[in-house]
Amino acid sequence: MEIEEIKILLKKSDIKNLEIFFNYNIRNLSTFRINGITSILIVANSDEALISLLNILNDINARYYIIGGGSNTLISDNCNDILIKLGKNYDFQEFYDNGFITAGASCILGKFITHSYKNKYDFSFLAGIPGTIGGAVYGNCGTQLEGICDYVESIECLKIIKNKALKEKIKLKPLNYGYRFLKVENLAVITKVFFKKDKTEREIIFNNIREKIKSKKATQPLNTFNCGCFFKNPLNSKKTAGELIDSLGLKGFMYGGAAVSKKHANFIENINNATSEDIFNLAKIIKGLVRENFNINLDYEVKLVGFQT
Ligand SMILES: Cc1cc2nc3c(=O)[nH]c(=O)nc-3n(C[C@H](O)[C@H](O)[C@H](O)COP(=O)(O)OP(=O)(O)OC[C@H]3O[C@@H](n4cnc5c(N)ncnc54)[C@H](O)[C@@H]3O)c2cc1C
Repeated sequence: MEIEEIKILLKKSDIKNLEIFFNYNIRNLSTFRINGITSILIVANSDEALISLLNILNDINARYYIIGGGSNTLISDNCNDILIKLGKNYDFQEFYDNGFITAGASCILGKFITHSYKNKYDFSFLAGIPGTIGGAVYGNCGTQLEGICDYVESIECLKIIKNKALKEKIKLKPLNYGYRFLKVENLAVITKVFFKKDKTEREIIFNNIREKIKSKKATQPLNTFNCGCFFKNPLNSKKTAGELIDSLGLKGFMYGGAAVSKKHANFIENINNATSEDIFNLAKIIKGLVRENFNINLDYEVKLVGFQT
Protein backbone atom coordinates (compact mmCIF):
# COMPACT_ATOMS: atom_id res chain seq x y z
CA MET A 1 0.00 0.00 0.00
CA GLU A 2 1.27 3.49 -0.88
CA ILE A 3 2.26 5.76 2.00
CA GLU A 4 -0.56 8.26 1.27
CA GLU A 5 -3.11 5.42 1.46
CA ILE A 6 -1.63 4.30 4.78
CA LYS A 7 -2.04 7.84 6.11
CA ILE A 8 -5.74 7.79 5.20
CA LEU A 9 -6.21 4.35 6.76
CA LEU A 10 -4.54 5.48 10.00
CA LYS A 11 -6.63 8.67 10.14
CA LYS A 12 -9.79 6.60 9.80
CA SER A 13 -8.71 3.97 12.36
CA ASP A 14 -9.33 6.33 15.29
CA ILE A 15 -7.41 4.21 17.84
CA LYS A 16 -7.37 5.66 21.37
CA ASN A 17 -4.00 6.48 23.00
CA LEU A 18 -2.21 6.98 19.70
CA GLU A 19 -0.80 10.25 18.46
CA ILE A 20 -0.16 10.27 14.73
CA PHE A 21 2.10 12.79 13.01
CA PHE A 22 2.54 13.15 9.26
CA ASN A 23 5.68 14.55 7.57
CA TYR A 24 7.49 14.87 10.88
CA ASN A 25 10.97 16.42 11.19
CA ILE A 26 13.42 13.68 12.21
CA ARG A 27 16.00 16.01 13.78
CA ASN A 28 15.05 15.16 17.37
CA LEU A 29 14.35 11.49 16.70
CA SER A 30 18.03 10.49 16.40
CA THR A 31 21.17 11.78 18.10
CA PHE A 32 22.72 12.27 14.64
CA ARG A 33 20.44 15.37 14.59
CA ILE A 34 19.94 15.21 10.83
CA ASN A 35 17.27 17.38 9.26
CA GLY A 36 14.74 15.55 7.15
CA ILE A 37 11.24 14.23 7.03
CA THR A 38 9.67 10.97 8.03
CA SER A 39 6.26 10.33 6.48
CA ILE A 40 4.59 8.88 9.58
CA LEU A 41 5.52 8.98 13.28
CA ILE A 42 3.18 7.33 15.77
CA VAL A 43 3.43 7.71 19.54
CA ALA A 44 1.66 4.90 21.40
CA ASN A 45 0.54 5.16 25.00
CA SER A 46 -1.07 1.82 25.79
CA ASP A 47 -0.60 -1.86 24.98
CA GLU A 48 -4.13 -2.00 23.53
CA ALA A 49 -3.31 0.87 21.16
CA LEU A 50 -0.05 -0.79 20.14
CA ILE A 51 -1.80 -4.10 19.50
CA SER A 52 -4.47 -2.48 17.31
CA LEU A 53 -1.85 -0.48 15.45
CA LEU A 54 0.45 -3.45 14.81
CA ASN A 55 -2.48 -5.54 13.62
CA ILE A 56 -3.40 -2.90 11.05
CA LEU A 57 0.19 -2.45 9.88
CA ASN A 58 0.80 -6.19 9.63
CA ASP A 59 -2.45 -6.71 7.72
CA ILE A 60 -1.30 -4.29 5.01
CA ASN A 61 2.32 -5.50 5.16
CA ALA A 62 3.64 -2.03 6.03
CA ARG A 63 7.26 -1.54 7.07
CA TYR A 64 7.56 -0.14 10.59
CA TYR A 65 10.33 0.47 13.08
CA ILE A 66 10.26 0.95 16.85
CA ILE A 67 12.34 3.94 17.84
CA GLY A 68 13.51 4.70 21.37
CA GLY A 69 15.98 7.53 22.00
CA GLY A 70 17.41 7.15 18.48
CA SER A 71 20.95 7.04 19.90
CA ASN A 72 21.78 3.96 17.86
CA THR A 73 19.69 4.64 14.75
CA LEU A 74 20.40 6.40 11.48
CA ILE A 75 17.07 7.50 9.98
CA SER A 76 16.92 8.27 6.27
CA ASP A 77 16.10 11.95 5.78
CA ASN A 78 13.35 10.86 3.41
CA CYS A 79 11.91 8.02 5.45
CA ASN A 80 8.81 6.12 4.35
CA ASP A 81 9.05 3.41 7.00
CA ILE A 82 6.57 4.07 9.78
CA LEU A 83 8.29 5.08 13.03
CA ILE A 84 6.63 4.01 16.28
CA LYS A 85 7.66 5.48 19.61
CA LEU A 86 6.43 4.51 23.08
CA GLY A 87 4.98 7.51 24.92
CA LYS A 88 4.94 8.81 28.48
CA ASN A 89 2.87 5.93 29.89
CA TYR A 90 5.89 3.71 29.32
CA ASP A 91 8.20 6.08 31.19
CA PHE A 92 8.22 4.67 34.74
CA GLN A 93 10.52 2.92 37.20
CA GLU A 94 9.71 0.92 40.35
CA PHE A 95 12.40 -0.10 42.84
CA TYR A 96 11.91 -2.82 45.44
CA ASP A 97 14.16 -3.75 48.36
CA ASN A 98 14.52 -7.40 47.43
CA GLY A 99 16.63 -6.78 44.33
CA PHE A 100 13.75 -6.40 41.89
CA ILE A 101 13.34 -3.35 39.66
CA THR A 102 10.83 -2.74 36.87
CA ALA A 103 11.09 -0.04 34.23
CA GLY A 104 9.00 1.02 31.27
CA ALA A 105 10.59 0.81 27.83
CA SER A 106 10.58 4.57 27.20
CA CYS A 107 12.36 5.38 30.47
CA ILE A 108 15.61 7.27 29.76
CA LEU A 109 18.71 5.27 30.65
CA GLY A 110 20.41 8.19 32.46
CA LYS A 111 17.38 8.65 34.71
CA PHE A 112 17.32 4.91 35.40
CA ILE A 113 21.01 4.91 36.44
CA THR A 114 20.47 7.86 38.82
CA HIS A 115 17.38 6.34 40.46
CA SER A 116 19.14 2.99 40.71
CA TYR A 117 22.00 4.70 42.53
CA LYS A 118 19.54 6.32 44.98
CA ASN A 119 18.08 2.87 45.63
CA LYS A 120 21.55 1.29 45.98
CA TYR A 121 21.59 -0.57 42.68
CA ASP A 122 24.78 -0.23 40.64
CA PHE A 123 24.24 0.26 36.91
CA SER A 124 27.31 2.49 36.62
CA PHE A 125 28.66 0.45 33.69
CA LEU A 126 25.91 2.14 31.63
CA ALA A 127 26.76 5.70 32.74
CA GLY A 128 27.16 8.15 29.87
CA ILE A 129 25.16 5.99 27.43
CA PRO A 130 22.11 7.79 26.02
CA GLY A 131 18.86 6.12 24.95
CA THR A 132 15.93 4.33 26.52
CA ILE A 133 15.47 1.11 28.47
CA GLY A 134 13.73 -0.52 25.45
CA GLY A 135 16.55 0.35 23.05
CA ALA A 136 19.21 -0.62 25.58
CA VAL A 137 17.71 -4.06 26.21
CA TYR A 138 17.04 -4.65 22.50
CA GLY A 139 20.76 -4.09 21.77
CA ASN A 140 22.06 -5.51 25.09
CA CYS A 141 23.98 -2.27 25.43
CA GLY A 142 26.93 -1.90 27.78
CA THR A 143 30.67 -2.48 27.74
CA GLN A 144 32.86 -5.26 26.32
CA LEU A 145 32.50 -7.05 29.68
CA GLU A 146 28.89 -6.47 30.74
CA GLY A 147 25.57 -5.91 29.01
CA ILE A 148 22.28 -4.68 30.46
CA CYS A 149 20.66 -8.07 29.71
CA ASP A 150 22.94 -9.69 32.31
CA TYR A 151 20.56 -8.11 34.85
CA VAL A 152 17.25 -8.62 33.05
CA GLU A 153 15.04 -11.30 34.55
CA SER A 154 12.20 -10.97 32.09
CA ILE A 155 10.60 -8.64 29.58
CA GLU A 156 7.00 -7.81 28.82
CA CYS A 157 6.56 -7.43 25.10
CA LEU A 158 4.37 -7.74 22.06
CA LYS A 159 5.12 -10.51 19.62
CA ILE A 160 3.76 -10.98 16.12
CA ILE A 161 2.45 -14.50 15.68
CA LYS A 162 0.54 -15.46 12.53
CA ASN A 163 0.28 -11.75 11.68
CA LYS A 164 -1.38 -10.88 15.01
CA ALA A 165 0.13 -8.93 17.91
CA LEU A 166 0.12 -10.79 21.24
CA LYS A 167 1.24 -9.62 24.67
CA GLU A 168 3.69 -11.92 26.49
CA LYS A 169 6.02 -11.95 29.47
CA ILE A 170 9.27 -13.76 28.66
CA LYS A 171 11.92 -14.94 31.09
CA LEU A 172 15.35 -14.29 29.57
CA LYS A 173 17.91 -17.08 29.45
CA PRO A 174 21.62 -16.53 28.64
CA LEU A 175 20.93 -17.98 25.17
CA ASN A 176 18.58 -15.07 24.47
CA TYR A 177 21.30 -12.42 24.33
CA GLY A 178 24.93 -11.76 23.48
CA TYR A 179 27.26 -9.00 22.31
CA ARG A 180 24.90 -6.19 21.26
CA PHE A 181 21.86 -8.33 20.56
CA LEU A 182 18.73 -9.76 22.09
CA LYS A 183 17.17 -12.75 20.37
CA VAL A 184 13.52 -13.43 21.16
CA GLU A 185 11.49 -15.07 18.43
CA ASN A 186 8.78 -12.91 16.82
CA LEU A 187 9.56 -9.96 19.09
CA ALA A 188 7.97 -6.71 17.94
CA VAL A 189 8.10 -4.30 20.89
CA ILE A 190 9.52 -4.43 24.41
CA THR A 191 7.13 -2.57 26.71
CA LYS A 192 8.41 -3.29 30.22
CA VAL A 193 11.60 -4.74 31.71
CA PHE A 194 12.05 -6.63 35.00
CA PHE A 195 15.56 -6.45 36.47
CA LYS A 196 17.23 -8.39 39.29
CA LYS A 197 20.38 -7.02 40.93
CA ASP A 198 22.20 -7.15 44.27
CA LYS A 199 22.47 -3.97 46.29
CA THR A 200 25.74 -2.01 46.67
CA GLU A 201 26.85 0.86 48.93
CA ARG A 202 25.92 4.27 47.49
CA GLU A 203 29.44 5.64 47.88
CA ILE A 204 30.87 2.83 45.74
CA ILE A 205 28.24 3.38 43.04
CA PHE A 206 28.87 7.14 43.06
CA ASN A 207 32.60 6.60 42.52
CA ASN A 208 31.96 4.02 39.80
CA ILE A 209 29.68 6.44 37.94
CA ARG A 210 32.22 9.26 38.27
CA GLU A 211 35.05 7.06 36.96
CA LYS A 212 32.93 5.72 34.10
CA ILE A 213 31.92 9.21 32.94
CA LYS A 214 35.52 10.41 33.25
CA SER A 215 36.87 7.61 31.09
CA LYS A 216 34.05 7.96 28.54
CA LYS A 217 34.67 11.71 28.28
CA ALA A 218 38.36 11.09 27.73
CA THR A 219 37.88 8.57 24.94
CA GLN A 220 34.52 9.29 23.25
CA PRO A 221 32.97 12.39 21.63
CA LEU A 222 30.05 12.72 24.05
CA ASN A 223 29.14 16.27 23.02
CA THR A 224 28.85 15.91 19.27
CA PHE A 225 26.04 14.63 17.05
CA ASN A 226 26.68 10.90 16.73
CA CYS A 227 25.12 7.53 17.50
CA GLY A 228 27.94 5.88 19.44
CA CYS A 229 30.06 3.17 17.83
CA PHE A 230 29.00 2.78 14.23
CA PHE A 231 30.42 -0.75 13.80
CA LYS A 232 30.41 -3.80 16.06
CA ASN A 233 33.80 -5.04 17.16
CA PRO A 234 34.73 -7.95 14.86
CA LEU A 235 34.81 -11.31 16.64
CA ASN A 236 37.60 -12.65 14.40
CA SER A 237 40.13 -9.89 15.16
CA LYS A 238 42.28 -8.97 18.15
CA LYS A 239 41.75 -5.32 17.22
CA THR A 240 38.53 -3.43 17.90
CA ALA A 241 36.67 -1.79 15.01
CA GLY A 242 37.97 1.59 16.24
CA GLU A 243 41.59 0.37 16.24
CA LEU A 244 41.25 -1.03 12.70
CA ILE A 245 39.76 2.24 11.39
CA ASP A 246 42.33 4.33 13.26
CA SER A 247 45.22 2.28 11.85
CA LEU A 248 44.05 3.30 8.36
CA GLY A 249 44.55 6.95 9.35
CA LEU A 250 40.86 7.72 8.94
CA LYS A 251 40.32 9.91 12.02
CA GLY A 252 38.99 13.26 10.76
CA PHE A 253 38.21 11.84 7.27
CA MET A 254 35.14 13.65 5.88
CA TYR A 255 32.37 12.87 3.44
CA GLY A 256 29.95 15.77 2.90
CA GLY A 257 28.93 16.98 6.35
CA ALA A 258 29.94 13.74 8.08
CA ALA A 259 33.33 12.86 9.54
CA VAL A 260 35.14 10.08 11.36
CA SER A 261 35.55 11.38 14.90
CA LYS A 262 39.02 12.68 15.76
CA LYS A 263 38.53 11.32 19.28
CA HIS A 264 37.32 7.78 18.54
CA ALA A 265 37.62 6.27 15.07
CA ASN A 266 34.51 4.09 15.44
CA PHE A 267 32.27 7.17 15.87
CA ILE A 268 30.85 8.97 12.84
CA GLU A 269 29.82 12.55 13.57
CA ASN A 270 27.44 14.96 11.89
CA ILE A 271 29.79 17.93 11.87
CA ASN A 272 28.21 20.20 9.29
CA ASN A 273 24.56 19.64 8.37
CA ALA A 274 25.23 16.08 7.21
CA THR A 275 22.54 14.28 5.31
CA SER A 276 21.74 10.68 6.15
CA GLU A 277 23.35 9.72 2.81
CA ASP A 278 26.60 11.48 3.88
CA ILE A 279 26.73 9.30 6.98
CA PHE A 280 25.69 6.14 5.16
CA ASN A 281 28.24 6.72 2.37
CA LEU A 282 31.03 7.43 4.83
CA ALA A 283 30.18 4.20 6.67
CA LYS A 284 30.31 2.29 3.36
CA ILE A 285 33.73 3.79 2.52
CA ILE A 286 35.09 2.78 5.95
CA LYS A 287 33.63 -0.70 5.63
CA GLY A 288 35.18 -1.09 2.15
CA LEU A 289 38.63 0.08 3.28
CA VAL A 290 38.64 -2.25 6.29
CA ARG A 291 37.65 -5.19 4.07
CA GLU A 292 40.29 -4.31 1.48
CA ASN A 293 43.11 -3.86 3.99
CA PHE A 294 42.34 -6.46 6.65
CA ASN A 295 39.91 -8.86 4.97
CA ILE A 296 37.47 -8.16 7.81
CA ASN A 297 33.79 -7.50 7.25
CA LEU A 298 32.58 -4.93 9.78
CA ASP A 299 28.92 -5.21 10.80
CA TYR A 300 26.89 -2.09 11.56
CA GLU A 301 26.09 -1.58 15.23
CA VAL A 302 23.98 1.44 14.29
CA LYS A 303 20.57 0.44 12.87
CA LEU A 304 19.54 1.92 9.52
CA VAL A 305 15.91 2.81 8.90
CA GLY A 306 14.11 4.09 5.83
CA PHE A 307 16.94 3.32 3.38
CA GLN A 308 16.08 1.46 0.20
CA THR A 309 19.24 -0.71 0.17
C1 LIG B 1 27.75 9.27 22.76
C2 LIG B 1 27.22 7.87 22.73
C3 LIG B 1 27.85 6.87 23.47
C4 LIG B 1 27.35 5.55 23.44
N1 LIG B 1 27.99 4.60 24.17
C5 LIG B 1 27.54 3.31 24.14
C6 LIG B 1 28.17 2.29 24.90
O1 LIG B 1 29.15 2.54 25.62
N2 LIG B 1 27.68 1.03 24.83
C7 LIG B 1 26.60 0.72 24.04
O2 LIG B 1 26.19 -0.46 24.02
N3 LIG B 1 25.97 1.65 23.31
C8 LIG B 1 26.42 2.95 23.33
N4 LIG B 1 25.77 3.91 22.57
C9 LIG B 1 24.68 3.52 21.66
C10 LIG B 1 23.26 3.71 22.24
O3 LIG B 1 23.20 4.77 23.13
C11 LIG B 1 22.74 2.46 22.93
O4 LIG B 1 22.75 1.37 22.06
C12 LIG B 1 21.30 2.67 23.44
O5 LIG B 1 20.97 1.63 24.29
C13 LIG B 1 20.26 2.75 22.34
O6 LIG B 1 19.00 3.08 22.92
P1 LIG B 1 17.91 3.92 22.12
O7 LIG B 1 16.68 3.95 22.90
O8 LIG B 1 18.48 5.24 21.74
O9 LIG B 1 17.75 2.98 20.85
P2 LIG B 1 17.30 3.36 19.36
O10 LIG B 1 18.47 3.91 18.62
O11 LIG B 1 16.07 4.15 19.36
O12 LIG B 1 16.98 1.89 18.81
C14 LIG B 1 18.02 0.92 18.75
C15 LIG B 1 17.39 -0.44 18.39
O13 LIG B 1 16.51 -0.82 19.44
C16 LIG B 1 15.20 -1.05 18.92
N5 LIG B 1 14.24 -0.61 19.94
C17 LIG B 1 14.19 0.59 20.57
N6 LIG B 1 13.20 0.59 21.49
C18 LIG B 1 12.60 -0.64 21.41
C19 LIG B 1 11.51 -1.25 22.09
N7 LIG B 1 10.81 -0.63 23.03
N8 LIG B 1 11.17 -2.52 21.74
C20 LIG B 1 11.87 -3.18 20.77
N9 LIG B 1 12.91 -2.65 20.11
C21 LIG B 1 13.27 -1.39 20.42
C22 LIG B 1 15.12 -0.22 17.65
O14 LIG B 1 14.14 -0.74 16.75
C23 LIG B 1 16.55 -0.40 17.14
O15 LIG B 1 16.68 -1.63 16.45
C24 LIG B 1 26.24 5.24 22.62
C25 LIG B 1 25.61 6.25 21.89
C26 LIG B 1 26.09 7.56 21.93
C27 LIG B 1 25.39 8.62 21.14
